[in-house]
Amino acid sequence: MVEIKYDRQERIPGWDQTKLSEATVAVVGAGALGNHVCLGLSGLGIGTIKIYDFDLIEAHNLNRQSLFCEADIGKNKAEVLAERLEERNSSIFVIGVDDRIEEDTIETIMRNVDVIIDCVDLISVRKILNYYCIRHDIPMIHGGISWIGGQTGILTRKTPCINCIFPQAIQDTELLEETSCIQKPEPSVVYTSQVVAGLMVNLVRQVLMPLPSDVKISSGLLKIDFRFEVPFYFEPIKRLPNCKCLEILKEVDPAILKLEKRKLRAQKKQDMAEIAEILVKKK
Ligand SMILES: [Zn+2]
Repeated sequence: MVEIKYDRQERIPGWDQTKLSEATVAVVGAGALGNHVCLGLSGLGIGTIKIYDFDLIEAHNLNRQSLFCEADIGKNKAEVLAERLEERNSSIFVIGVDDRIEEDTIETIMRNVDVIIDCVDLISVRKILNYYCIRHDIPMIHGGISWIGGQTGILTRKTPCINCIFPQAIQDTELLEETSCIQKPEPSVVYTSQVVAGLMVNLVRQVLMPLPSDVKISSGLLKIDFRFEVPFYFEPIKRLPNCKCLEILKEVDPAILKLEKRKLRAQKKQDMAEIAEILVKKK
């Protein structure tokens, strides 16, 4: 069944489904972007998907959070999304985590993942995620949307961080106004999340399973603005002098990182065996 399921993508030259099936990806935020990113990840056959969101589904989410139905109103977004993905693809393992990402909890709730996908709407949470990624050498796929467009890019230890790319004035406004779609409703449509999510899922695929046809990913953001005749453009990014990311880079010794990675690989083998057992029992 698995072979048949992925037959069409496995026809692409250089495609290695095993790399995707053995990967563990964390999606933070199960809103509009999170819904469409998760749909893409389940289609690719990412073996383990962990979804994090503490929010509940409301009627005004349904126009763009495409995997939720009216009957889901009042339920937790991460848990419903996890159920929906497993209904669509029984060969993958999905966990919905009803929890907030905070500085003092991230180390315990976010363990053993190959890629972290930023589908959140607060820069403060993005910074917590990004600093965690820098500490543990995990690539982070950043994504953000508004009703007129959005942006995406890969952030690693070699690139600038979230703090480098978001101007301080925007960060200050967020802190002052507590901007989020709960406190201050923003205009939003479904198609910007579909476009940006598609680009993000392609970046996840490029990180986990590069193809011979891929071009080298440059350090920068791919931006979309539907007010332009050609809505896509690339914006290079630069590190801010004296940014916190530089401090974190100095804090973590590459030798310790190497050791940590080896430990995680061993732990992951054990996790994969347990997950395989669960999937067999489910069938
Ligand atoms: Zn930085």
